Amino acid sequence: MAKEYNLFSLVTRDKDKPPDEIIPERVELKANQMWCPYCSTPVVFVKDKKLGVKRCPICGISDRDYHVKRLNSRWK
Ligand SMILES: [Zn+2]
Repeated sequence: MAKEYNLFSLVTRDKDKPPDEIIPERVELKANQMWCPYCSTPVVFVKDKKLGVKRCPICGISDRDYHVKRLNSRWK
């Protein structure tokens, strides 16, 4: 049981960290991935049916967030 929780505890969001300004050059995003500037990792944003937006599955930021939009605009 504990193992399942460990998966998530590996990714801890540092709330004091400013969002990324750029996507690191070594990163190659797959077609359905976006860069989460808050988690500093490629993620597949998950559709939130209630709100009609897509959200990072790790930190829950929506794809309407200014930094998310700005970083990922060239991928759309
Ligand atoms: Zn995130």
